[in-house]
Amino acid sequence: MPSMEILSSGASRLGLQLNPEQLQQFETYCHELIDWNRRVNLTAITVYEEVQVNHFLDSLTVALVWQPTGSAIPRIIDVGTGGGVPGVALKITFPQIRLVLLEATAKKASFLHHLQDLLNFEGIEIVVGRAEEIAHNARYREGFSLVLSRAVASLPTLAELTLPFCTIGGSVVLHKKGDIEDELRKASLAIDTCGGKLHEVRAVDLPEFPDQRQLVVIDKVSATPGQYPRRPGMPKKRPIR
Ligand code: SAH
Repeated sequence: MPSMEILSSGASRLGLQLNPEQLQQFETYCHELIDWNRRVNLTAITVYEEVQVNHFLDSLTVALVWQPTGSAIPRIIDVGTGGGVPGVALKITFPQIRLVLLEATAKKASFLHHLQDLLNFEGIEIVVGRAEEIAHNARYREGFSLVLSRAVASLPTLAELTLPFCTIGGSVVLHKKGDIEDELRKASLAIDTCGGKLHEVRAVDLPEFPDQRQLVVIDKVSATPGQYPRRPGMPKKRPIR
């Protein structure tokens, strides 16, 4: 089977045509992820086909709700990116974006640096730190038109960790699996408090994902009050409720 075929056909269902150079970059990314994972715990998924679907294609479902438009260069941050998911897949697909990969664990960030060198990425910054702290740095606060995060925390916690990074008029897009009604209800105060407004929950309807997957899209409508996010650990330990 030609390499990255599963990804390529899935992406085309999302309206994304990946060229041979992009597919080669995904191929390299996939091999490096699997190789590094023997030493650094980056992912539980280590089978070539599954990486294509559960990491790469899943990342690209963001295109259902967001795509670059016009001449403005989008600034995107991926909060708790781990091995680069979903940020790196979007960078390969939309090379013009400027991307910050935020990750608390230095060992995981060393993989990201390796990948950055190998794939000659321009416009990627890797930041090692916790969202609770980095979001108070003026360089990053309210500096991104799109904020992404996958598999990092529950929605009430995520609202506090992601909304402070988003510019007013921008959006936060969160990958979520399973039934999230209860999580959404519990997150409404945190979203509101941090300057967000729920825009939509977009179901991901692709044959590759028979389980229930969705993207939670939150618009940033007003500035996040200066006290948020609270100090490290608090958004998780005591979510705004
Ligand atoms: N987004 C990736 C990784 C998910 S695992 C994926 O979907 O595969 C969660 C990652 O978030 C871990 O690598 C962890 O180190 C990081 N993380 C958790 N809390 C964080 C925080 N407060 N700030 C920055 N990174 C965080």
